[in-house]
Amino acid sequence: MTSPDLTLDSREVPLGGLRGITVHRTLPQRGLPTVGPWCFVDQFGPTTEPMAVLPHPHTGLQTVTWPLAGEIRHRDNLGSDVVLRPGELNLMTSGRGVAHSEFSVGDITQPISGLQLWVALPGGQLAAEAAFEHHPDLPPVEGRTWTATVLMGEIDGVVSPATTHSPMVGAELRIAAGTATIPLRPDFEHAILAVDGATLVDGIEIAARQMRYLAPGRAEVRLRVPAATTLLLIGGTPFEEQLVMWWNFIGRSHEDIVEARDQWQAASPRFGEVAGHAGKRIPAPPLPQVRLRSRRRTIDGSSSHD
Ligand code: MN
Repeated sequence: MTSPDLTLDSREVPLGGLRGITVHRTLPQRGLPTVGPWCFVDQFGPTTEPMAVLPHPHTGLQTVTWPLAGEIRHRDNLGSDVVLRPGELNLMTSGRGVAHSEFSVGDITQPISGLQLWVALPGGQLAAEAAFEHHPDLPPVEGRTWTATVLMGEIDGVVSPATTHSPMVGAELRIAAGTATIPLRPDFEHAILAVDGATLVDGIEIAARQMRYLAPGRAEVRLRVPAATTLLLIGGTPFEEQLVMWWNFIGRSHEDIVEARDQWQAASPRFGEVAGHAGKRIPAPPLPQVRLRSRRRTIDGSSSHD
């Protein structure tokens, strides 16, 4: 079986909460729930609508928050209270359960934009303690015609200090007008998101906010941009575990999700409390009437490119 490379469109998704903003989501996709362990890719802004996401829970995942413009205040039930700025990474690992809020701060008349990504945790991490990391100084990578910041994993021998639980890479790529050849791991599948401009990915043009999926088996990818462009590279070994994803929860079964939802609604200590919101929080939506099922993958990420 061959694994075709694919161009993936984003779709607009309103985030929950009274004044939650709209994001452009390129993952998950029908037939492609994950790229490596990456299971959500949301791009927000540029918008002058302030971010105001009240406390909400997560299970079974890491949130990777990477602002491109503006400042975001993160608070969680672990007691973290951090202002996140462009060039800095927030990494929150839910383990069994965590809750957090995210609000625009600073000069909120200026547009905000950024990326929020989720990484699925492997089964062995589903009962672990929650953790939060703020990384203000990530390692830069200097390619010949490109630069990068490694958010997660490693690229070209440069390793991020952020904690990972399965083999993966996540990096912001910046290319001036022209071409760049980015090294890849052949045992990984990858995807390239054109954050702010059209890009040729191995000769195939994608528009801003589109993503190009790259099947395993490549040692590099050639990119060409008509003007200075920012891109996101994600990848990892294809994630073999079946994921049941609903709202802000990732589990392995319908029952996992029902239990997490019930415990959030009951203000269970599983998720604790995020200080500073006077008890305000985002309630879980009603469950669908059908049993939740794992996301089926119909794009084969296990065989080689070409
Ligand atoms: Mn969240």
